[in-house]
Amino acid sequence: MADHRVTCLSCASVNRVPATKLGAHPKCGTCGARLMEPRVHDIDTETLRKAERNDTIPLVVDFWAPWCGPCRMMAPEFEKAARVLAPHARLAKVNTQVHGDASQRYGIRGIPLLVLFRDGQEVDRLPGARPATEIEAFARRHTAERA
Ligand code: ZN
Repeated sequence: MADHRVTCLSCASVNRVPATKLGAHPKCGTCGARLMEPRVHDIDTETLRKAERNDTIPLVVDFWAPWCGPCRMMAPEFEKAARVLAPHARLAKVNTQVHGDASQRYGIRGIPLLVLFRDGQEVDRLPGARPATEIEAFARRHTAERA
């Protein structure tokens, strides 16, 4: 089976992980962080660009901001989805207030917005606050065949 490419969401190193080892808590070869941890990572746009370019595992990014009520409401749902989807998809969030370049780069007109990246491109997006079950269903449309 082919190797997956997975960008470490802590140090942004690109790691190779055999498909059979995805569920075995693989660690980053550079910083030792767990690559497929079942939680939401807070990342910057630089890390996102790297993951976007390299990762063969779906990365679902929640573009949000602290002033956005629906964003804050969705946060625990997004965490819940991250636990269920590991290790078949990874979930991360980008604070658009801190990383102001995100809105233009990704053509964001409203938040919260979920964007799924895989194999060097944007694959799908889902606008608005969603419950965990909908976030899961959204991600699984792009994981099932590779799980
Ligand atoms: Zn690392």
